[in-house]
Amino acid sequence: MLTTKNSNQLYNRSLNHLVGGVNSPVRAFKSVGGNPLFISHAKGANIYDVDGNEYIDYVLSYGPMIIGHVHPHVQEKVVKTLEKGYSFGATAELEIELAEKVCGAFDGMDKVRFVNSGTEAVMSAIRLARAYTKKNKIVKFAGCYHGHHDALLVAAGSGLATLSMPGSGGVTEGSVQNTLIANYNDISSVEQLIADHDDIAAIFLEPIAGNMGVVIPTDEFIQGLNRIGKEHGVLIVVDEVMTGFRSMFGGAQKLLGLKADITCLGKVVGGGFPVGAYGAREEIMNCVAPLGDMYQAGTLSGNPVAMAGGLATLEVLEKESPYDFFNTYAQNMQEGMLSLANEKGIPLQVNRFGSMINPFFTGQEVKNYEDAKGCDTNKFADFFWKFLEGGLYIPPSQFEAWFLNTQLNDTHLNRTLEAFGKAI
Ligand code: PMP
Repeated sequence: MLTTKNSNQLYNRSLNHLVGGVNSPVRAFKSVGGNPLFISHAKGANIYDVDGNEYIDYVLSYGPMIIGHVHPHVQEKVVKTLEKGYSFGATAELEIELAEKVCGAFDGMDKVRFVNSGTEAVMSAIRLARAYTKKNKIVKFAGCYHGHHDALLVAAGSGLATLSMPGSGGVTEGSVQNTLIANYNDISSVEQLIADHDDIAAIFLEPIAGNMGVVIPTDEFIQGLNRIGKEHGVLIVVDEVMTGFRSMFGGAQKLLGLKADITCLGKVVGGGFPVGAYGAREEIMNCVAPLGDMYQAGTLSGNPVAMAGGLATLEVLEKESPYDFFNTYAQNMQEGMLSLANEKGIPLQVNRFGSMINPFFTGQEVKNYEDAKGCDTNKFADFFWKFLEGGLYIPPSQFEAWFLNTQLNDTHLNRTLEAFGKAI
């Protein structure tokens, strides 16, 4: 049995002044039952709770910690930067360096604007798409999550899927009246919207969906979006907040052959510090103030400490290029899980792309939100607690991706499959 005495004590205390004991809903463990764990520290591929339990960390702060926790290169760069001041409200060289690195990694990204979160990046991209095209409507896909900005909080995955919430209270009809919903991997649903509406500014998508669990786009879907973007003058906004720098140095868009007009980033680009970004070709980005009339600003945007964390993380990724390693590890994990589940006759699908992987408790292929919602979430909840007992920290939801980091090795893989075998 897992010892959780100290976590439980902190949980009870947290409930007094933190809503549900957390600062982000999925952390509450609501859909798996039981109290959340409280973390004391993390190092490399491992994370430790306040009762001294050690886990292999497949949550990785929901994505950012791709080179593991407390990496010496990041630590050094961040501490050195910290000693020179925390925030200036003026541009510092680190912002230019990170911009150069990010723009260099994406085709057609001439300029970038740094913000403080993925939500802010996508929220700004909506405004930019509208300012550039002078059109109002936006298309999103059911099950994709783009942050908690009002206009995209409909049919969203992530915590809303986990908590079975169709949308959010407090979002006015006005805020979502220009949001149209299409089905992932169903290009005809996009074509229908294009035929019915002449005021569409942009189509927003996760290039690999990670917020309904991991769902891979078909080539037909990707090529269809490229075609629609070109033929109808609709911008393709690729939300790479989760996928950016995860499957190659740059975005999943390149591997998929998806042509982005605007790209949104977050998570890895800040290496565990609050950074988001949106970037595009010059003509589009020049609409943003101070060059253009689309206003967007931030007191802490481009914060030097956060820039240092992001830059150091990207430096390590560029140097080590761990992407073949991720593919091999994920493939071994997928094959191992499928064969163990098969032996027990338990229906399982495992979707993966680069360093993102996700077991779904279902016998059907998972290609969209409906398929994902058809999974056995009770079985997942049972499995979740057994996994924790086996020393593996995974997201407390069937609908969140598991992430790999560069500090994993064969020992971690063997421990993972051993725990998986015991759990099922
Ligand atoms: N877009 C995607 C694809 C995401 O996965 C997330 C967060 N999980 C966001 C946007 C929002 O980012 P943040 O939580 O940093 O606001």
